[in-house]
Amino acid sequence: MPDLNPARDGTAFTVRPHASPVSAEQRAELLRDPGFGRVFTDHMAVIDYTEGRGWHDARIEARAPVLMDPASAVLHYAQEIFEGLKAYATPDGGATLFRPDQNALRFARSAERLAMPPLPNDLFVDSLQQLIRVDRDWIPTVAGGSLYLRPFMFASEVFLGVRPSKQYLYMVIASPVGSYFKGGAKPVTVWVSQDYTRAAPGGTGEAKCGGNYAASLAAQAEASRHGCEQVVFLDAAERRWVEELGGMNIFFVMDDGTLVTPPLGTILPGITRDSLIAMAQREGITVRQEPYSIDQWRADAASGRLREVFACGTAAVITPIGTVRTTEGEFIMPGSGATQGITERLRRTLTDMQRGSGPDPFGWVHHAA
Ligand SMILES: *Cc1c(COP(=O)(O)O)cnc(C)c1O
Repeated sequence: MPDLNPARDGTAFTVRPHASPVSAEQRAELLRDPGFGRVFTDHMAVIDYTEGRGWHDARIEARAPVLMDPASAVLHYAQEIFEGLKAYATPDGGATLFRPDQNALRFARSAERLAMPPLPNDLFVDSLQQLIRVDRDWIPTVAGGSLYLRPFMFASEVFLGVRPSKQYLYMVIASPVGSYFKGGAKPVTVWVSQDYTRAAPGGTGEAKCGGNYAASLAAQAEASRHGCEQVVFLDAAERRWVEELGGMNIFFVMDDGTLVTPPLGTILPGITRDSLIAMAQREGITVRQEPYSIDQWRADAASGRLREVFACGTAAVITPIGTVRTTEGEFIMPGSGATQGITERLRRTLTDMQRGSGPDPFGWVHHAA
């Protein structure tokens, strides 16, 4: 295992402010209803990597298109990884991040899996802070709003040979987002993918790479055709064990109050998942990280042993699952939308913590600006 957090060799950021940033009036207009992933801030963070030289030329500059040679390795062999986290505005004009060190660590692990050089953890966190500092005014202050940060890295060497690239570009872009769910978390309908799988043992399921998403889109399209918002993947070997959704982990709430969630291995190790496990255990709730089959899910829904089911991830935080649709028909989780349920309580506790309006017993909130 390579050193995931090598020492930093003086890669200080140069800040080159945008010559003509968006005006305050225009920004206010854009922040009124930003949706998700369509509006972007004025700046971006960029760091170059060259084999033999390491990470260099860390900078904050005007957000602009990336000029790419058509033979850039990422366009052919998909050596690309990313992260996603949110910055929140504080009433004193500052900003916070939630467990950014965990995103840094996961980014380094994803890099290792895709044979890319790890970015030092402190350089990763610094890149977020530097960007937030220049684009602080882009953090929505409306209820439920946040600034979604998207760090990513790709192979930029101009070479068609199949081997790890010798050059990479690391970037962070930022996108103001509104409340994911207007008017509270509404239970979604999910489609169980029986033909497509997301990840196999030994594959890239644990890495946050664009390739996993490319491979999931046909299943997502199939889900949409069946009137479902999200897709649930089963394990690749037996097509039996529930793994996760396209971009969210999953939890089952049993009638004895315990939580069940699939174990790590081929699923993406979500930071929301990890946080919820720690929070639930702190409340005295038993959390079992163990395989749970689709047949068990159907049986437990029918017997009433299963009370609530929810998906979790940074973008939507917690999404209750109301209906499960399969090729053999559908079944319903009546408790998922309950305002008194465990799902709703965990959702509120976590979002209050992230937004600084609730206690932070784990010290997870990081002051970024
Ligand atoms: C990012 C991601 C998640 C959720 O991870 P968080 O750290 O909680 O945002 C879950 N599944 C997949 C496939 C993901 O890419």
